[in-house]
Amino acid sequence: MNRSADPAKNVETRVYAAPEVIPPGERRRHPRYLLTRPVITIPVLADGSPDEERVGEGYTIDVSVGGMSLRIDQSEPPRLSTLVVGVESESSQYHFSTVRMRNVIESSEGKRIGVEFVEPERCVFRAEQLQPWFDARTFSLAPPANEEALTRWCGLGVTRPVVTDYVQVCSACRALPTFRHGCRKCGSARLGNIQLIHHFACAYVGFVEKFEQHGDLMCPKCRAKHLVVGADFEYLAGPYHCLDCNWRDSTPEHIAQCLRCGMRCPASQLSEQQLIGYHVHRLDPLVLIDSVR
Ligand SMILES: [Zn+2]
Ligand SMILES: [Zn+2]
Ligand SMILES: [Zn+2]
Repeated sequence: MNRSADPAKNVETRVYAAPEVIPPGERRRHPRYLLTRPVITIPVLADGSPDEERVGEGYTIDVSVGGMSLRIDQSEPPRLSTLVVGVESESSQYHFSTVRMRNVIESSEGKRIGVEFVEPERCVFRAEQLQPWFDARTFSLAPPANEEALTRWCGLGVTRPVVTDYVQVCSACRALPTFRHGCRKCGSARLGNIQLIHHFACAYVGFVEKFEQHGDLMCPKCRAKHLVVGADFEYLAGPYHCLDCNWRDSTPEHIAQCLRCGMRCPASQLSEQQLIGYHVHRLDPLVLIDSVR
């Protein structure tokens, strides 16, 4: 790239008027807005963890939807090309974004760093990386893959752990179960259900066989004949019986079976797993721009 064509080079000698809009012919893609806010820069190591030894502090000079210019008070500018940048909002809360360093310009006032926001898929804190995930090998919910790095980001105040959910897991191996309605005694899902008839007129409820009379339906209590479903009576679910052990019950039990070890038990006997994710206050360039526009 031709250094003299570097757009950030031109910025040094310009006098800004906020909001600044790119003049025609300018190479910059987005309008830049003057903004002075405290900022911290944290280099990102190859494994996605922070380089705590090289945290820089300074302030923002300008911001666009594509990137920012920063003044960093550091004898050595960060050598790494990927940084997490935190900008302090008006409410004193830092908001963070992953950026790529574009250039470092030395001037009498110190070091000025030009950065651009990375594509969402290159962000250090992608939403799916901050949450527990389903490990299909163990049929269980695993902590975020880069939890060690996230813990170090927590140490810098960038991320913080949050309880996101509680899930029921196998008490033997912590894997996820499937569920079905089944027999309280033996756990079988093969249940029969004996149907009942509720005769509206006299409020009698009884087994269907008791109503059946030579191809007609007749109420055994009030002797009404030619009963019509919906108009004269409704079917009700009667007691359940287990086709395997013949147990009878008014309501079936919620039965769980572990996907991994196969343990089958009432759902009430499962263990509870607390799911922990990580939260980060994200920097939205549009919000920053709106605050100065
Ligand atoms: Zn049974
Ligand atoms: Zn009746
Ligand atoms: Zn299990």
